[in-house]
Amino acid sequence: MVTAVAQRLASQRKEIDDTLAAFALSPTQLQEVKAKMHMELERGLKKDSHPTASVKMLPTYVYRTPDGTERGKYLALDLGGTNFRVLVVKIRTGMRNSVRMYNKIYAIPLEIMQGTGEELFDHIVQCISDFLDYMGMKNTRLPLGFTFSFPCNQTGIDKGDLVCWTKGFKATECEGYDVVDMLREAIKRRNEFDLDIVAIVNDTVGTMMTCAYEDPKCQIGLIAGTGSNVCYMEEMKNIEFVEGDEGQMCVNTEWGGFGENDNIEDIRTRYDREVDGGSLNPGKQRFEKMTSGMYLGEIVRQILIDLTKHGLLFRGRITERLKTKGIFETKFLSQIESDRLALLQVRSILQSLGLDSTCDDSIIVKEVCGAVSHRAAQICGAGMAAVVDKIRENRGLDNLEITVGVDGTLYKLHPHFSTILKDTVRELAPNCKVDFILSEDGSGKGAALITAVAQQLESNSKFFSAL
Ligand code: ADP
Ligand code: MG
Repeated sequence: MVTAVAQRLASQRKEIDDTLAAFALSPTQLQEVKAKMHMELERGLKKDSHPTASVKMLPTYVYRTPDGTERGKYLALDLGGTNFRVLVVKIRTGMRNSVRMYNKIYAIPLEIMQGTGEELFDHIVQCISDFLDYMGMKNTRLPLGFTFSFPCNQTGIDKGDLVCWTKGFKATECEGYDVVDMLREAIKRRNEFDLDIVAIVNDTVGTMMTCAYEDPKCQIGLIAGTGSNVCYMEEMKNIEFVEGDEGQMCVNTEWGGFGENDNIEDIRTRYDREVDGGSLNPGKQRFEKMTSGMYLGEIVRQILIDLTKHGLLFRGRITERLKTKGIFETKFLSQIESDRLALLQVRSILQSLGLDSTCDDSIIVKEVCGAVSHRAAQICGAGMAAVVDKIRENRGLDNLEITVGVDGTLYKLHPHFSTILKDTVRELAPNCKVDFILSEDGSGKGAALITAVAQQLESNSKFFSAL
């Protein structure tokens, strides 16, 4: 009997190991992810492949990072993260580290996120109105930077059509329409105040700009939060679909879409496909769904359901709770994987989710979380290695020193994600010395800095055309 029990345990162990093995990528596989990302970055930049590229490579019309001469008082909106916020940002004369912000968080109810576009933008304007009242600023017409963290096909710093919603948003009659126009129209409908909308800003770009304000070597912005995305300074001559060959422009890669052309199916698992199938945008944002906060918990939940089905967890009982989408948030990965957390505490976290676990269960759940977050950080690192090596090649350098500005709760709070990400970049891009610095509210401060840079550029060009 002892032998029989031992055999059964060994075969159960093997089943668990086999399941998790699909998440362990070899150095060769990671090299392949890097090479494929590099290819997609290139495809996104070329005129003929740009319109259909999985990595969209959207121009941002941000031509340079801040140089410290920016100043003024700005209004900023931050839409597309966990919280919708309205902010006032004051940048004082020339001195670095002298940005002051006042902000207020507003809820966007689910029925508005997924209602009509008109309702969504009316709600946004209602929140701005409340904020201006609160600040006693209804009659001051400030320049506004709108951080809108979704893919936008920009044709200017203040012109951009929403390509598609991502993350939890799905308001109707927005895709294909100009975001700034929709905001302007909602302001007109309300007929209560006026705003000077200067710039539409992706959160990655705001993050890069915020860090670049402190560190001129910062030419990349990374988000590892609800979503996953990167922007970087590209040579104008490489951006084939934008006029001009001089200087640089920041490109919003929208790398979350990587994989939409089926080129990473070899590393996707059935659990990834399950999460994708149950999402608001099946088939889209495949890389994002393997790397970002909105989805990692869901991948874990799918694995736990499968292991339970096979009698390997929770005594084979699939509870209603376990069947509930979203119960397993990514913050639980951080808690469960914390090195200081004892197994008993893992058990109490699971209990709080209504999952009655044994000590063995707790060990297995911790392994599952580790496998999912480890892969996420590694492929994110492989993607980043492709970006830094591309920049190095662009400049014809043997070695490159560069800084990445980062934002996102997954990066900031997960106990291992950032370390694994950095290690992977070091291994896959050995000729680049890459520093990572945390951005402090890129979506607010960055939007103001972009607005300031855009206004300087506009007044310069007016000055030169007057000459
Ligand atoms: P956003 O990207 O929306 O601006 P955040 O950077 O705060 O916002 O990211 C929110 C995401 O981070 C959510 O998907 C959430 O599940 C995840 N998250 C929240 N807390 C943690 C945590 N402690 N560890 C890892 N992920 C977390
Ligand atoms: Mg954000």
